[in-house]
Amino acid sequence: MDYEVHEVEISKEFKICPLCGYQDGFHTMIRKEAGKFKKLYICPRCSAVFDLKLK
Ligand SMILES: [Zn+2]
Repeated sequence: MDYEVHEVEISKEFKICPLCGYQDGFHTMIRKEAGKFKKLYICPRCSAVFDLKLK
């Protein structure tokens, strides 16, 4: 894996990229970690990967 995963804590919604300001939401991806599938979010503009720590 050659990308950094940014951990983000959502206050109310997660629609705007905190890194580049892109405002139209995110792509999703799935990654297996320690035997569990985890959903990550990718900014369509800057390609930053986010883990929203949803549980
Ligand atoms: Zn971005």
